[in-house]
Amino acid sequence: MADAVKKANRLKCEEIIKNLQKRGMNGYYCESSREACEKALSMIPNGARVSWGGSVTIEDIDIKDRLELVNAEIIDPMAAKDPEEAYGTRVMALMSDVFLTGTNAITLDGKLVNIDGRGNRTAALCFGPKKVIVIAGTNKIAKDEEAAMARIKTEACPANCIRLKKETPCGKTGICGNCLISGQTICSMTLVTRFCNSPDRIHVIMVNEDLGY
Ligand code: SF4
Repeated sequence: MADAVKKANRLKCEEIIKNLQKRGMNGYYCESSREACEKALSMIPNGARVSWGGSVTIEDIDIKDRLELVNAEIIDPMAAKDPEEAYGTRVMALMSDVFLTGTNAITLDGKLVNIDGRGNRTAALCFGPKKVIVIAGTNKIAKDEEAAMARIKTEACPANCIRLKKETPCGKTGICGNCLISGQTICSMTLVTRFCNSPDRIHVIMVNEDLGY
């Protein structure tokens, strides 16, 4: 990434971090995904139960393989062998000590904007896990809620539907068709996190790199 772009993105991150504080969330800046991984690990108590939602960003920062450093007890909903186990681990994830997630978008004024197919990831953002650590690359920054939704429909959803092999219009054509297809749509619900009423619960690590979709 060109120096000028990195500097501009850093300034945007600093603005977002300031606005997150007003919204009851803690914001942090990291220059790289490696730094972000270290930061997230430092925030996980030793022996904590750790879980996550489906997230390319979490894969991108390579944190899962390093959780043994903090003796984490892992609840992995993505490793379930069948739908019943997947349901059970998703419910257990809501009772984890630490939940790791990306965000589909983050606005300059500090709101997290997320869509979800089944709702387990958005549920964990709302309530349950004692601590939520959100990792956001600068590609997730949007001017406002409207721009956030536009980026989700045009950038995040087509790529995620292709990755998840979903039979949706955006997965087939790259363009949203406002689908309502059982078991396929990844836009069942939209969550805007505009304030956190539990101090020290939601922590957002802004990373000056592109991460996830
Ligand atoms: S509503 Fe359907 S087609 Fe539109 S972005 Fe979401 S999953 Fe894709």
